[in-house]
Amino acid sequence: MQHLPYRGRLAPSPTGLLHVGHACTFWTAYQRALAHNGTLVLRNEDLDPQRSKAEFAQAMMEDLAWLGIRWQEGPDLGGRFTPYKQSLRRELYLDAWRKLRDGGFIYPCSCSRRDLITSAAAPNDADDEPVYPGRCRNKIGEARNFDVPRGVNWRFPVPDGEPIVFDDLRQGRQSFVAGKDFGDFVVWRRDDVPAYQLAVVADDSAMEITEVVRGADLLKSTARQLLLIRALRFPVPAYYHCDLVRDHAGVRLAKRHDALGLRALREQGRTPADVLAMCRPGQADCTTQ
Ligand SMILES: [Zn+2]
Repeated sequence: MQHLPYRGRLAPSPTGLLHVGHACTFWTAYQRALAHNGTLVLRNEDLDPQRSKAEFAQAMMEDLAWLGIRWQEGPDLGGRFTPYKQSLRRELYLDAWRKLRDGGFIYPCSCSRRDLITSAAAPNDADDEPVYPGRCRNKIGEARNFDVPRGVNWRFPVPDGEPIVFDDLRQGRQSFVAGKDFGDFVVWRRDDVPAYQLAVVADDSAMEITEVVRGADLLKSTARQLLLIRALRFPVPAYYHCDLVRDHAGVRLAKRHDALGLRALREQGRTPADVLAMCRPGQADCTTQ
């Protein structure tokens, strides 16, 4: 994709306030877009109606601007691929769901949460969902009976045993084995909300994103997304996964780590430069270009 003009994106979820970890990753995305003389897109990933809040969306835009990050397309600026708010892009996701259904790439799963808890293998790491045991895979032929996705979970059957390999621009070569490191993942939720994996892949393709910069906690999601990209015949973007920022105790920053929220730091009189200095040393290469 070298010949295409660089298009990167900032894709925060308005489910809380941004913290230092977000600042480091988004700053890196900004620096990489600048270095490539590219375009940076801000996309409000407000898909989850239970957890997304308009006030957090407003706060994240203010906090990003306070850090000095500038974008060229977004909910506030518009652009070629408007709307830049996932809750308004449902038709695009439905279109991807229909393609997956028609291509025989997904199946309806009616397992209850309890079924999954009792039968699933434990996840390989604590952050991740358990590997789905595949009990509804035989329903793949029923997919075409559905005009709309509502009412069941829709899963993508992964090619068991296939290594999904990609070269990450920051983390180097990555390899995850389908069916072992991750199982059949949900692309559309029972509550009629498109799943993160599907929405991101559909949006990155529609918005002509050439490089995805995000945190290393999403490396395994990238493996899943590559399978969706292959099924949907979308172009494959480049990937740059930033190192995760940890606090002094070595604990990864989570959204609820209020002490290192950008708002709190700002109120304590810290400057954007102070915040970006906190990205080091763990993420030095991610913040300086
Ligand atoms: Zn099932």
